[in-house]
This record gives sequence, structure tokens and C-alpha cells, in this order.
Amino acid sequence: MAGKAKEDRAPLGVQLLRGQKALVTGASSGIGKATAIALGRAGADVVVNYVSGADQAAQVVERIEAFGVSAYAHEADVSDEDQVVAMVARAVREFGTLDIMVANAGLQRDAAVTDMSLAQWQKVIDVNLTGQFLCAREAAKEFLRRGVVPEVSRAAGKIICMSSVHQVIPWAGHVNYASSKGGVGMLMQTLAQELAPHRVRVNAIAPGAIRTPINRAAWETPQAEADLLKLIPYGRVGDPEDIADAVVAMASDLFDYVVGTTLYVDGGMTLFPGFATGG
Ligand code: NAD
Repeated sequence: MAGKAKEDRAPLGVQLLRGQKALVTGASSGIGKATAIALGRAGADVVVNYVSGADQAAQVVERIEAFGVSAYAHEADVSDEDQVVAMVARAVREFGTLDIMVANAGLQRDAAVTDMSLAQWQKVIDVNLTGQFLCAREAAKEFLRRGVVPEVSRAAGKIICMSSVHQVIPWAGHVNYASSKGGVGMLMQTLAQELAPHRVRVNAIAPGAIRTPINRAAWETPQAEADLLKLIPYGRVGDPEDIADAVVAMASDLFDYVVGTTLYVDGGMTLFPGFATGG
């Protein structure tokens, strides 16, 4: 599979994030896994957060360590305040500080609105939105405590929120998920406004359709993939590494003047492809 080959990419010649300390939530699979590996490849030490799948998390740690940087796995539920506080405190203890927080963990609990239980609504909001708030808050405390270290980065810290094209595209049958991602957009912008004077950069990445476990049903069969491709002008389903590389760029000083922005990495899904031949 294309994604697998990409995962095994050689070390980068230029290490954009050398000496930086990163934490990626939900990093035992999918986009989080590819992102944690890509950050290590770019020279960062990485905390690999996971809530289930200790073995996969350990494998991600091994892959990162192969680049000659440090990594460890940390089990925590991002929707649990005490666990997030302890996770960030440990990162600061082990690595000395934190420079990059990638709030990536997320899930879906799909149902038609008339069938959606309060528990389904709440679970998605708790993980996808409250989890990002907690991770951003704890990272911001460390960024503000430490401030800018010019030889490491021009910013005092970077928070990257994993959003979705459903930050702006309504999604019938997924009102909890779409609402959580719409909330992530405003969470990100408000934190960006609040923290920019402290030289903390907060931004979001909004993936389109990426081949991961969360949306297996959408690409698993040839028919499902053909239907999905109608929504993607660029003509291919994304790989986790497409998102991981965008995270590396956004966390680096190449993006130092990018503040409060959502970067859509979606093969053109947000271009209203239905209007290409009609409308
Ligand atoms: P995934 O299911 O492989 O990854 C999600 C990860 O989050 C899993 O490792 C899961 O264990 C973890 N997680 C779930 N609840 C958690 C909790 N309470 N605490 C800590 N970790 C938890 O799917 P993915 O596609 O890699 O999703 C990653 C992010 O990307 C999500 O925020 C998702 O909404 C977003 N996204 C994905 C797509 C896509 O097409 N795959 C598109 C848009 C946005």
C-alpha cells in the first residue's frame, strides 16, 4: 500500500524540528501515528499518546527512535482532565519542556439525529472538543512559563488542532462529529487570538478523506472508494503522511507567521466538486 511505503521514508536531510519536543495525541494509529513518526524524522523528540493499543504505540516509539531521537508511549484519555495534566507534566519532566502539541485524538459515534443518544453526542464532544481544549491548555501553560528560546524556534510554542473538512462542511448522520469539528475551528481561532501576543502559534489542519481506521467503510471496497473519489477533485484518497507532512511544516519556523489559520489538506474536497459540471 502506498501509505506503508511512505511510512518507511528515509531520514530527512534537513531536520526542521531538531531539538524540539512534541506530543501527539491518538498516536497509535492513522494520522496520529504518521504524524508522530514524521515529527521524529524531522528531528523532534516525541511523546506517543494512546488510549488503547499499547503494542502499536510501542511500535511507533521504535520507529521514531530509529531516527536517533527520543520517544516514549504514554497512555491517557484526552477527555480526562487529570490524565491530560499528568501527561503534559511527565513530558516536561522527561524532555525538559514541550514545544509542539498536536491535538489529534478523535472518534466518531455515528447515528441519525433521531437515533442519537446523549451518550453518543457527549462522547464525541468530550474527546474531539474538550480533549483538544485540555491538551491545548496544558501545553499553553508550559509555553508561557518557558517563553521563546531563539535557538530552538522563533515561537514560544505551537499548538496544532486536528480538525476536519467537517469544520465547514455539514455532515448528515454525524451531527456530533461535525459539531465537534466546527467547535475545534472556533477553539483554535480564539486560542490563537489569546496566545499570539505570547508568541504561541495556534493553527488547525483540516484533513479531507484520509485512508485510516476511522473511515474504513468509505474506502474499503472499490465501490465505496469510487463514490468517495467523486468528492475529491485531485482524484486520490489521502494518505496519513499527507497530513503528517503538513503538521511538520506547520510546526516549523517556515510557518512562523501563520497564526490562527486552518490549512485544508483535502485534495480539493472543500471546492464544492458538485459544481464543477453543474450549479
Ligand atoms: P484513527 O481512529 O486511526 O485515530 C484516532 C486515534 O485517536 C486512535 O488512535 C484512537 O485510539 C485515539 N483516541 C480516541 N479516543 C481517545 C481518547 N479519549 N484519548 C486519547 N486517544 C483517543 O483515525 P484518524 O483518521 O487517524 O483520526 C485522527 C484525527 O483526524 C481525528 O481527530 C479525526 O477526526 C481527524 N480526521 C480524520 C479524517 C480521515 O479521513 N481519516 C478526516 C478528517 C479528520
